[in-house]
Amino acid sequence: MLLDVQNLSVSFRTDEGPITPVQDVSLSLAEGRTLGLVGESGSGKSVTTKALMRLLPGSATLSPDTRIRFQDRTGAVVEVENLAPNARALRALRGGEIGMIFQEPMASFSPVYTIGNQMCEAIRLHKGLKGRAARELAIEMLAKVGLSDPATRVDQYAFELSGGMRQRAVIAMALSASPRLLIADEPTTALDVTIQAQVLDLMRGLQRELGMSMIFITHDLGVIAQIAQDVAVMYLGTIVERGPVRDVLKDPQHPYTRGLLQAIPSLDRLSRRLHPVPGDIPSPSARPKGCPFHTRCAEMKPGLCDVTAPPETLFGASRSVRCHLAAPALAQTA
Ligand code: SF4
Ligand code: MG
Repeated sequence: MLLDVQNLSVSFRTDEGPITPVQDVSLSLAEGRTLGLVGESGSGKSVTTKALMRLLPGSATLSPDTRIRFQDRTGAVVEVENLAPNARALRALRGGEIGMIFQEPMASFSPVYTIGNQMCEAIRLHKGLKGRAARELAIEMLAKVGLSDPATRVDQYAFELSGGMRQRAVIAMALSASPRLLIADEPTTALDVTIQAQVLDLMRGLQRELGMSMIFITHDLGVIAQIAQDVAVMYLGTIVERGPVRDVLKDPQHPYTRGLLQAIPSLDRLSRRLHPVPGDIPSPSARPKGCPFHTRCAEMKPGLCDVTAPPETLFGASRSVRCHLAAPALAQTA
């Protein structure tokens, strides 16, 4: 297993007291696979992946039983939650073993350095290449992501590129360190629909070609269907359903997953802002008692769902659901 996360809970100190935007998340990822992390904004997707790289601010704490295990390229297992904030192993992980791509490509580039300068710095840091060798690798990576005239692009600034080209350059920069895991947080959300489809295609191709693993964060199950083999559906900081994409999309067990699915008119239409289920996701500072979804669930059973939180019920090796009603139905087919 490349990545194994057990019981991840993240709390923040705030003026109004502690809030816990991620609660008891467990997930794992095998080498070469893509896990889609799906949910509305505010569901805890980004906080979860930032925790994996220890990129959370100082006001954040992990629960004592949090376990984050990452197998590095030497085969050693890194206990990520135990690393000191400045540990060498942590610096090697971030941007090296684990690459990152965010929604807004401008945020990944400094306005005062050329794309090539920044790529070469990442290449020096993570691959130990300098000078001409680093520059050649940067140009090679820019070509790999489909940028025309990469030898010119390498000396340009991010603002000189269009949004789609910039996101390609971000991908090139992330991949130039040969990460074993790429975390992509809504990488296509800010792009227009045609460019989104191209960037998704590109990422899928590169993931296969390079054999890396990927965690792909999105609010759109349609995108998940195209890019991931496994899916975890998050709601208010917990994973409410997970399993192989094919099984979950064919036979969703959680009412929230079903709501997300109904919001996809056709799988080839990408990126709409979803309002899958009536009502809004509550704030983590006002987490409902019982099932976190009960305030919006059409199948809510009073006296049960609003009182007792459903446990995570496992079916087989890879499928799980957190819903009082789903458990018996799945158990019969398992
Ligand atoms: Fe709905 Fe109850 Fe299942 Fe929660 S546990 S999703 S409220 S049916
Ligand atoms: Mg987010």
